[in-house]
Amino acid sequence: MASAERIDHTDSVFAPRSTVRHPSSRSRDTVMTQTTVALAKGYAAHSATTPLVPWDFERRAPRPDDVSIEILYCGVCHSDLHFARDDWGMASYPVVPGHEIVGRVTAVGDDVSQYQVGDLVGVGCMVDSCRQCKACNEGLENYCAEGFVMTYGSPDRHDGTLTQGGYADKVVVSERFVVRMPNGIDLKSAAPILCAGITTYSPLKHYGVKPGDKVGIIGMGGLGHMGVKLAKALGAEVTLFTRSESKKAEARKQGADHVVISTSEDEMGAITETFDFMLDTAPVQHDINPYLNALKPDGTHILVGLLEPLDPAVFGANLVSRRRVLAGSLIGGMPETQEVLDFCAENGITCDVEMIDIDQINEAWDRMQKGDVKYRFVIDMASIKES
Ligand SMILES: [Zn+2]
Ligand SMILES: [Zn+2]
Repeated sequence: MASAERIDHTDSVFAPRSTVRHPSSRSRDTVMTQTTVALAKGYAAHSATTPLVPWDFERRAPRPDDVSIEILYCGVCHSDLHFARDDWGMASYPVVPGHEIVGRVTAVGDDVSQYQVGDLVGVGCMVDSCRQCKACNEGLENYCAEGFVMTYGSPDRHDGTLTQGGYADKVVVSERFVVRMPNGIDLKSAAPILCAGITTYSPLKHYGVKPGDKVGIIGMGGLGHMGVKLAKALGAEVTLFTRSESKKAEARKQGADHVVISTSEDEMGAITETFDFMLDTAPVQHDINPYLNALKPDGTHILVGLLEPLDPAVFGANLVSRRRVLAGSLIGGMPETQEVLDFCAENGITCDVEMIDIDQINEAWDRMQKGDVKYRFVIDMASIKES
């Protein structure tokens, strides 16, 4: 059962326990201004080596610019697993992962102007930033000079408590970091647009993909399959690069015009200097030199999946000999996150998802690690009420 007593490190920043709202008091949850902390049910990792387990915790008392959200669905991203298992050396515990959140507004602060109780909304990878640097002023909060506050595992800028993500029944977020779900969009399959969708859409837009361009998509996972759909919708001729012959038919089903087996020297040799853009979603080391040579002069190779030193190294000649560009991109700003949702709704683009209940999350992580999902697990958060 929910227990405020389990929270022992953050008492000073929460309201007195006597004001804690019981989760079942639904009518009180829908008052316009909610000023107390709320008990939340989630699934948390308590160490890098233990499975996710049910965990009751408190969501902060909403601030004037905050929106309280009942979570309906949450996508399951590779980053959730990497963070919780401390693969990046930045984890803090307990952590409730999840940054592809779709839900319904249950309360709004006095200063909230964009959202009302009952609105269907989304929250992606960010929940705050400095809000005043050049990047933030341009709606590029993802490139905030002070670093953005991640949806989970980041210290809150106001009270220093750790943020907790969307594998939970509710969340409290500033309205600046909330997006509106477009009318008619399928909420379940829209959840992954908040990470996988914006991560692939933003660079395609920024680097100027236009109708007729030849675009290569490297990797056919959660990001790659969204990249194929989005590049097609932008009018590009799309080629999917995959290591496995078995993904050929699947790539065509997703809308790719062509498929190239990246391990085939014949197939790679036949495409020299034919691409305008490569969107590289592969999260593991791979030799990008053959892909650079597949770019036309002035072509651009965009990394979105790999954060480590490239190995093997890039041959400078593969860039300088054809004035090619090696670029990178990280998710997208809040205005563009709204834009990609609207774009997907207008173009009938959704993520291919497999729905799970929250108590299947550990099994889902194991399967995700093996690449055994087409292409995103999404948690039906109604299941947490029964767990
Ligand atoms: Zn993600
Ligand atoms: Zn900033």
